[in-house]
Amino acid sequence: MHGMSFAVINPATEESIAELDAAGVEETDAAVARAKAAFPEWRSVAPTDRARLLRRLATLVEEHTEELARIESQNVGKPIGGARAEVGMVAQVFHFYAGAVDKHHGETIPVAGGVDLTFREPLGVVGLIVPWNFPLNISSWKLGPALACGNTVVLKPAELTPLSALRLAELILEAGIPEGVVNVVVGPGRIVGQRLVEHPAVAKIGFTGSTEVGRTVMQGAAETIKRVTLELGGKSANVVFADADLEKAAAAAPYAVFDNAGQDCCARSRILVERCAYDRFVELLVEATRKVKVGDPENEATEMGPLISAQHRETVASFVDGDPLFRGDTPDGRGFWFPCTLVEATNDDRVAREEVFGPVAAVIQFTDEDEAIRIANDTPYGLSGSIWTENGARALRVARALETGVLSINSNSSVRASTPFGGFKQSGFGRELGMHAMDGYSEVKNVFMAT
Ligand code: NDP
Repeated sequence: MHGMSFAVINPATEESIAELDAAGVEETDAAVARAKAAFPEWRSVAPTDRARLLRRLATLVEEHTEELARIESQNVGKPIGGARAEVGMVAQVFHFYAGAVDKHHGETIPVAGGVDLTFREPLGVVGLIVPWNFPLNISSWKLGPALACGNTVVLKPAELTPLSALRLAELILEAGIPEGVVNVVVGPGRIVGQRLVEHPAVAKIGFTGSTEVGRTVMQGAAETIKRVTLELGGKSANVVFADADLEKAAAAAPYAVFDNAGQDCCARSRILVERCAYDRFVELLVEATRKVKVGDPENEATEMGPLISAQHRETVASFVDGDPLFRGDTPDGRGFWFPCTLVEATNDDRVAREEVFGPVAAVIQFTDEDEAIRIANDTPYGLSGSIWTENGARALRVARALETGVLSINSNSSVRASTPFGGFKQSGFGRELGMHAMDGYSEVKNVFMAT
């Protein structure tokens, strides 16, 4: 594998924007060795100094917002405005974990005959495997807590979108984080990713990606009893009750599924609507979807760009047959474009069962609250979801009944630096973001001292 080069493509133009050498097993092993060598020093850095370095990194990310946003926009096809907001979140994440360093600590537990103490120990070398849809964001969600806890890292971005991670690695050094603490390895998942999963010196894999590859990671990790955090696919429900503010719900619904061209594990790609409000809501939803601005990611007004690749566009297209409720326009010419699409469906249809990972939403009717809950939960996934109703008690009742990790009520918002993010069921386990993520990158040690 070593030395084989590959082109990085801009999905809006289909042009090559970089040529990189693909790493293989040898380069992966070398990166693990560097991370292992850097661990004793990094874990011993005083907490206030580690916090200061992470804060410096956050500031550098802020100072390089425009550059990082351009890289992400060109490599993933993200609209530039959204890409800037994503870089803003990356900075927030590093600021948050700078503050977390000395707030994640042990306890003293009352016992007979002595003193009992717990310590939070870093794991050692952690392997972080990241998908192509939010390369920089998801890297930061894993790097923040991993570094705050004192681990060293081998980061593997997706081969389709490695550019922002490579630039971030430079900023990490510029921030003063020692060489070897973060090592980025670019190469195919089935070689570099798999080697990290198998490597005896890697203590944990933080993985975000498809449920299918997540299963392989979990199986591979069993051999060395590695810790794993899995953030996998989703098929989330956007549940709209007739007593909701329908205008507001319909105006928000397109952005809950078409953001990032639907290539979002949180996409609420099943829109569940109470039967008595269905016709009115669909009318409003179609109007709102018509307004989504699809086109050149460099244009400041653009809200949706292309899909990541021609191959992925074929997969997305396979979900749409017959006459959809709505099909939007796409630009002419080059680029992996796919229109915003709304299809009427039942929850048994393939478009409602499988993750499309593109701008296709299934609109499904329900008759009452019990049926809404049953349909929403009738999926192997459980990542995200939204509930729209003006009845507060119902909102909380339904929120408690839904088998999903992240919910919003009368809002699309699902991700914040300070709040836990992760899945139920086959959407994975372990939590990213917030203080919960610190648990996933540390081990509890219990020490009893006789007095
Ligand atoms: P994949 O699962 O194909 O890839 C994810 C990462 O795993 C990539 O870096 C990939 O490398 C790597 N990989 C591939 N094969 C292996 C392997 N055998 N061992 C170890 N690593 C491997 O997902 P996609 O990149 O296609 O991303 C889309 C999927 O990710 C969707 O299903 C989506 O729902 C999910 N996702 C989940 C999120 C969540 O938080 N729950 C967030 C974002 C996406 P490479 O591509 O270089 O080969």
